[in-house]
Amino acid sequence: MTLALKQLSKTFEGSKALQNVSLQMKDGQTTVILGPSGSGKSTLLRCINLLELPEKGKLQLGDLQIDFEQKITNKVKQKLRRNTAMVFQEFNLFSHLTAVENVMEGPVTVLRQDKDQAAQHAKELLEQVGLSDKYDSYPSRLSGGQQQRVAIARALAMEPQYLLFDEPTSALDPELEIEVLRVLQELAHERLSMVLVTHNIDFARLVADRIVFLEEGKIDFDGSATAFFASEDPRIRRFIHSLKL
Ligand code: ADP
Ligand code: MG
Repeated sequence: MTLALKQLSKTFEGSKALQNVSLQMKDGQTTVILGPSGSGKSTLLRCINLLELPEKGKLQLGDLQIDFEQKITNKVKQKLRRNTAMVFQEFNLFSHLTAVENVMEGPVTVLRQDKDQAAQHAKELLEQVGLSDKYDSYPSRLSGGQQQRVAIARALAMEPQYLLFDEPTSALDPELEIEVLRVLQELAHERLSMVLVTHNIDFARLVADRIVFLEEGKIDFDGSATAFFASEDPRIRRFIHSLKL
């Protein structure tokens, strides 16, 4: 299912966070969004999930079409949100629910899945992210890396067409970051469709089928990881260097 953005513009109090951004994501690809702080990366992801509404532009996901200049019905919102799951920097787990309960919550309440079935699936997903010994643990008993892996399992449980990650490891210590990146790398290998914002440039190089570089709300580069890292564009060179020792 193709995800396409056409000429999105989003303004916050007169300042332009996104300016005429057009992008087309392909099935089974990992698109990594890079760019300096404040360049509009989070806003772009949040617009895909309708957490922010652009003033202008269009979004298409499969046969679903949204024109942001027109009113968006709740039905369209729900449909889009079911097909895009977001994982945030802060893990945002329900603190009063165990790992399994966190993962099965969406499938049971939103997708109306049978509880036993949802619990079984939740356990499989937790196993997939390396947490088969933590089914009944509450978030407070889990490390940051483990909590983020529960959050990833929770996103997967909704079986979305697209997984959106906004700096999923930037709140983690380096040794915990690795375990989360390994999970993401596996998902990329399984050809899930993902859009990922990260500051980890080595990881971007490893998993990106495609890199999009944002600066001041505009797309400055859109192409393969190889082309990005070989780019002679001084802004890109400066950005890459700013993230290296
Ligand atoms: P990034 O994720 O690349 O760091 P953001 O998308 O968070 O960038 O922000 C892009 C621009 O929009 C920044 O100038 C930021 O200050 C502004 N911005 C983002 N969210 C809001 C908001 N809710 N209210 C006002 N300004 C915002
Ligand atoms: Mg951000």
